[in-house]
Amino acid sequence: MINRKKTTIISVIALFCLLLVACARQKDTPRERPLFDEDGMYSEENFIYNSALEKDGAHLIVDGKTEYCIRYEDTTDESVLTAVNELKSYFDTLCGGIDVRTGDSEGKAIRIGKYGYTPPAPLKKTGAYIVEIGENDVLIYAENVYGLTNGVYGFMEDYLGCVFFDHETTYIPKVGSMILAEKTDVQEPAFESRDVGDNETWNHASFAQKMRVRQDEAFLTDSCHHSVGLIPKEILDAHREYYAYINGARRTGAYWGQAAQLCFSNEEVIDLLEEAIVNKAKSSTSDQTIWWDISQQDSMNYCHCAKCAALTEETNNPAAPIFRCVNIIAKRHPELKFSTLAYHYGSEPPKNIEFEDNVMIKWCIMSSYGANDYSAPLSEGKSEIARKQYKEIVGWSELTDNIYVWDYITNYFNYLLPFPCLDAMPGNIRLLRDCGVDGVLSLSAYNSRGFGDRLKANFAAHLLWNPDLNETEFINKFMTLYFGKDAAPFMIRMYRRMQESLTGKLWVYDEPTLLSKHHQEGYLSSRMTEEYYSLLSEAVEACGGDETYLKRLRFERLCLLYVSIKSEYGTQEELALLKDEFKELCAEFSVTRLNETGTDTVVDFCK
Ligand SMILES: [Zn+2]
Repeated sequence: MINRKKTTIISVIALFCLLLVACARQKDTPRERPLFDEDGMYSEENFIYNSALEKDGAHLIVDGKTEYCIRYEDTTDESVLTAVNELKSYFDTLCGGIDVRTGDSEGKAIRIGKYGYTPPAPLKKTGAYIVEIGENDVLIYAENVYGLTNGVYGFMEDYLGCVFFDHETTYIPKVGSMILAEKTDVQEPAFESRDVGDNETWNHASFAQKMRVRQDEAFLTDSCHHSVGLIPKEILDAHREYYAYINGARRTGAYWGQAAQLCFSNEEVIDLLEEAIVNKAKSSTSDQTIWWDISQQDSMNYCHCAKCAALTEETNNPAAPIFRCVNIIAKRHPELKFSTLAYHYGSEPPKNIEFEDNVMIKWCIMSSYGANDYSAPLSEGKSEIARKQYKEIVGWSELTDNIYVWDYITNYFNYLLPFPCLDAMPGNIRLLRDCGVDGVLSLSAYNSRGFGDRLKANFAAHLLWNPDLNETEFINKFMTLYFGKDAAPFMIRMYRRMQESLTGKLWVYDEPTLLSKHHQEGYLSSRMTEEYYSLLSEAVEACGGDETYLKRLRFERLCLLYVSIKSEYGTQEELALLKDEFKELCAEFSVTRLNETGTDTVVDFCK
């Protein structure tokens, strides 16, 4: 009895001791704090706290000092050198400098290059990379310059917590220490070719590289809509039969206001197009693979001759003569690659056609005359056009493995008009990934500023790398760092309210005062616009006079002013004041062009 009592007491004491040890250990090794709170808001403070937590791995910065250097394998590639320099500037900012050299050296280093490393498995995609974090070293490994630049910028974002806002602004969290746990991180992009057509990415190559997009070596698609121009004019002039036959005649010039097309069933036309492409390929100095394009003009004037009509009938697609023509030339030239458009009258997958392996289909999330719906992902089938397009891309994915897609994330008639497509973007990009699409261009406001452009360019680029990213966290983090943590909740709410009050289709050519008046009852109503102004005022109030944040908020105001002026919300006197302010803000942000074609200028808009 006594013994049993003794045993029980000993057990209780032992258990108590164990608990004490466990508690002490927990105290010694503090846990990481969550980066997002229950409302989904990003905590910069917790990121900084976590970065300083002691762990086995690379102690890149300890109390504002670094013992590391940057080493990179010798290269003359401008993009790699720029990336190395960007990484250097991170350490310059936080530690007052870092030694950077080519080659190798003893001691702690961030190495950029191959450095004799054998990857756990061969990398699959062109821009893939590996970040290998060891006890003393970080290796950023890739097999080509695309992967190396991606690796440096990806490392800066994913591990060092940086965010690239635009080509001249990078957010660097002000950490005192940066300690990284040991890890092998293999990064493969979801799409082989990724491009974001935004005013920053298309005007500043270094920014595109930071976004890990436009590294399209495998997809230089030789443009499109230029087949007529491939055949010398004097030959075409001498052969009316080379042109499309429509309503009883060969149409050699514009017809019904649209450009002339070729008769792609004419065997001589096929031979001439073949000759033109072969000559282009021979004279090309590019060391990259080019997918030579043979496709329709941007015109509905397709051929109705007996042969073309029969093919159209057989395949249920009026672009079938073009598909057949491309297939014939592709078969004759297996050493070359070709592309054609699944667009306009040819957007639906044809019946009874098998595509050659060296032919790529280029499809748009946009049907004839730009019809589309970005109010929700296509897979939700919210509108007839969304259901049609969903069916199209799934159908194409069953026909070919080579698909390139144009996606659109702005309003091309009204760049500054709020365009709430943030809900549609992730779902659509996941759908394209699931359809095995190889390359995507997310086209934004590429030749002027547009509503939400900084966020959308960043979001699109990261979705193209990893479509499974947590979109709410991504947006909230970006907004928190871009507008500041105090103003961000109001801006997140403003963007959310735009999405929630959206009714009916959201079209890239929406004109809220003409064909898309439903938006004036929905997300662009006078009542909703007032709500946005009010949220924006609260954001301005909250950011405590910080000029960086205030400037970014002024751009948001510019977009709201565009809504008010466009919809004439206010008396003539009120509108006159808004127009003055609009002009001032356009000058501040160098906005002169309000739509894609540049036909709508600030001066015209404010008349
Ligand atoms: Zn024809």
